[in-house]
Amino acid sequence: MSKFLTYEEILLKCEEINTTYEINQKRFDKIVDCILDNEEISADHKIAEAFAQLLKAVSEEISEMETTAELVPTCQMGCAFCCYFPIVTNKMEAALIKDAISKMPADRRHFIENHLVQYYQTYEEKVERLGRIDWASDSDAKYRYKKENLPCPFLNLETNACMIYEVRPLPCRTYVNYTDPKVCSANVMPKETISYEFLYQEYMGAINELLQYLYENEKIEKIDYPGDLYQEDLLINWMKKINQ
Ligand code: SF4
Repeated sequence: MSKFLTYEEILLKCEEINTTYEINQKRFDKIVDCILDNEEISADHKIAEAFAQLLKAVSEEISEMETTAELVPTCQMGCAFCCYFPIVTNKMEAALIKDAISKMPADRRHFIENHLVQYYQTYEEKVERLGRIDWASDSDAKYRYKKENLPCPFLNLETNACMIYEVRPLPCRTYVNYTDPKVCSANVMPKETISYEFLYQEYMGAINELLQYLYENEKIEKIDYPGDLYQEDLLINWMKKINQ
């Protein structure tokens, strides 16, 4: 008998989460309150800090939902099939990823910077073509993108590890597999995988609250609020622009 959950069992677990789990809004509010109370750091530093902490809060919230439903992810270290999906972020998130890289130790930063240069040379044609895909209104875009096997710019192809793990964007955290990991290698778009993307609401709501306060009371230099929140694009496009 298989030790993995079946698709039907996963759906039942999701139903259980939907009906019994209450999102811990206080987890998100507390992060914003603590950061705003810190008078020793600049507004830009507060935003960077909130970004990292709120992303972590999303991962913690998913862990608690899993505990509630006795779900154990089957995603394995070094398995990176989900890093070939199109990842969409807003301009603020892309800028904050760039900011986080700029603050990494020199060795790590240089490694990522060199990798990005090589990445955009190696995949120039695919990035150019898939970067124009209409991900917002074309219902088939995700499938067509994934089928092309274009790795994320931050995927280390030697280790299959994420190079920006601690600030990997929300879609990378909310996509989980609870059944046989083989479904990811055998399918372009496995139906068994789960997305907790509804947590975007809590995460973005908290960031928006923080930004609104800072916009009205302090001086934000690196982010254009609210404009940067509403400009969305593929990560391959944001990082290309940043890399130019
Ligand atoms: S940011 Fe990291 S986790 Fe997300 S798709 Fe890219 S390599 Fe994978």
